[in-house]
Amino acid sequence: MAKIFCIANQKGGVGKTTTAINLAASLAAHKKKVLLIDLDPQGNATMGSGIDKNTVKATIYQVLINHATVEEARVRSETGNYDVLPGNRELSGAEIDLVNLDNREHQLKNALALVDSQYDFILIDCPPTLSLLTLNGLGSAHGVIIPMQCEYFALEGLADLVSTIKRVHKNINPELTQIGILRVMFDPRITLQQQVSEQLVAHFKENVYKTIIPRNVRLAEAPSHGIPGIIYDKSSRGAKSYEAFGAELIKRVKAMDKKQ
Ligand code: ADP
Ligand code: MG
Repeated sequence: MAKIFCIANQKGGVGKTTTAINLAASLAAHKKKVLLIDLDPQGNATMGSGIDKNTVKATIYQVLINHATVEEARVRSETGNYDVLPGNRELSGAEIDLVNLDNREHQLKNALALVDSQYDFILIDCPPTLSLLTLNGLGSAHGVIIPMQCEYFALEGLADLVSTIKRVHKNINPELTQIGILRVMFDPRITLQQQVSEQLVAHFKENVYKTIIPRNVRLAEAPSHGIPGIIYDKSSRGAKSYEAFGAELIKRVKAMDKKQ
């Protein structure tokens, strides 16, 4: 059975998609079978995986409204070595269509139940909202990875996200038990970033991942080539950090399984 993680943060531009793509490629490089789901109408995770969001035969949208199965809609990322359930602007209509379905918060979970024995990890790149799409992501997942920049306003909004996660755990998905904060776009030369990083660890303790993702221009360049950053320039600091993050997540999941 796959371990399912949402990459979520209702702020835009905080590194969700970069984390989703590079973590998928990192886990694949660690010989794990990975499905990456692009739940954001912007379709950046799809394009960044080398798949043209405008020419795919089906997307996660059709899966959510029962018009296609995961197996029909998925595409292989040849550059990243993982499967992708693509997303594009069709998804922006999903909110309205989903509202009319009885099982609206469980649509994704039900669809994934049919394929989760085929994967080790399923990663879900969420849109920058706490919408029905994000609820479907959280409703399917065992864990949430929250990418955060260590900046003054970073903690703002985190309380809302954590309370949404707790509500989902209580009312929709009791299997959602892991919250992990990933420090991204980190610049150790900036004192404020170090201070915020220390505050995060003091407050969230072991829920902060040990790996820190540095600000690295190679990670930002890679999407325009449709190649995950960790493949685009293997020797870059950004690539090495996501490689380490994949290893850390695999270790954590093993420890989680032992506890159960
Ligand atoms: P989100 O999905 O949360 O909106 P993105 O992953 O798209 O955020 O990142 C926002 C911008 O920051 C993008 O241009 C991306 O290339 C850049 N970026 C993300 N992570 C890094 C990093 N570690 N170093 C440098 N640039 C980054
Ligand atoms: Mg994004």
